[in-house]
Amino acid sequence: MNVKSIMADLERKHPGENEYLQAVREVLESIEGTYNEHPEFEKAKIVERMVEPDRIFTFRVTWVDDNGEIQTNLGYRIQFNSAIGPYKGGIRFHKAVNPSMLKFLGFEQTFKNALTTLPMGGAKGGSDFDPVGKSDAEIMRFCQAFMLELWNNIGPDTDVPAGDVGVGGREIGYMYGMYKKLAREYNTGVLTGKGMTWGGSLIRPEATGFGALYFVEHMLAKAGRSLKGATVAISGFGNVAWGAATKATELGARVIAISGPDGVIYNPNGMTKEKIDFMLELRASNRNIVAPFAERFPDATFTPGKKAWSVKCDIALPCAFQNELNGDDAKELLANGTWCAAEVSNMGCTPEAIAEFQQAGILFAPGKAVNAGGVATSGLEMTQNAMHISWSAAEVDEKLHYIMQNIHEQCVKYGTQPDGYVNYVKGANIAGFMKVAQAMLEQGVI
Ligand code: GLU
Repeated sequence: MNVKSIMADLERKHPGENEYLQAVREVLESIEGTYNEHPEFEKAKIVERMVEPDRIFTFRVTWVDDNGEIQTNLGYRIQFNSAIGPYKGGIRFHKAVNPSMLKFLGFEQTFKNALTTLPMGGAKGGSDFDPVGKSDAEIMRFCQAFMLELWNNIGPDTDVPAGDVGVGGREIGYMYGMYKKLAREYNTGVLTGKGMTWGGSLIRPEATGFGALYFVEHMLAKAGRSLKGATVAISGFGNVAWGAATKATELGARVIAISGPDGVIYNPNGMTKEKIDFMLELRASNRNIVAPFAERFPDATFTPGKKAWSVKCDIALPCAFQNELNGDDAKELLANGTWCAAEVSNMGCTPEAIAEFQQAGILFAPGKAVNAGGVATSGLEMTQNAMHISWSAAEVDEKLHYIMQNIHEQCVKYGTQPDGYVNYVKGANIAGFMKVAQAMLEQGVI
């Protein structure tokens, strides 16, 4: 494989799709050495086939807002790769959603899902619909209109969407209701992240954040460190940030920062149950601001326009959006003594930030390993649905813990460098790639 020529070809075919090209480049650079030891992959053109999605559905979503005005958005579902199981991945509602963003997410999802050890292929979907400031009724009408177009292309054994940025339990509920009505299908397996009374799994809402902290725990243990007493800065305040803040606090760390598009909250005394619950209220308010946290809790302060990375911390956990931590942020964190960074958001760090962390020799792990607990627990939800049973929270949590430990082990196996430094980016990419590549090879040219 020649990464340069493959990338040149992709840049020519997909000009301006920067997030997608960034995600592909990172994987190809990580796997190049291993790939070239396998002439059978080269012969079967595995990489050339793997970097393109199997298919993309694009559709118009038209709905009526509360003022009676007609609104039109774009909707997408990208079925990226089905080598190891049915297409699986979230749906993102955000004003910046475009094909490049969803292709990067679908590509990442393919390897992430492979790392979970569960049989799930990779997919992603979404819309440029902006949930900020929308009423509950508007959210419902949009979700219904979105599903009206999508339903015929998904199913419990073909493609199983879930939540992502802007899509939580409420949105899954509205989409599931419409799917059921259209498909006349009453088994519950078509979406994950469902409500507890209609096929959802306990621990799924917490799973991305909990899983991330289990991963970090293993990473720290291997380096002879611990979460106990460590200070943690978290970006975001949504579902993922909430789960991460909950588990980090439970494991003895002090969460001293959360953030939003409006600025950062400095929270020197750490989280309490009340504070963590308030994060849920912030998300449910649909206002996309974090400032009210400091109005509610006087020991916290709000600084407008600043990121979580401006706060001196031991551990940095990006939990919001891609490329939210750049090279300058990484330099600031390192200057402040940060010794661990783990992406809980998908591709939360820019390549420049990753290079800074790795050159400084601090612990760094990528999203496709760290945040895989969310989709892994979706996989556990699918299993429970297929078996028509529900596991207890303790059973799901134990399985999640085991999966995260296993992902950590895979990263160490494939990412340990001759000098002993664990390159978790390389480890995650090679481990995920090998599984998908082998499955594609065995299934022939399709
Ligand atoms: N959106 C989540 C992710 O990026 C979860 C996907 C799922 O549960 O299918 O992995």
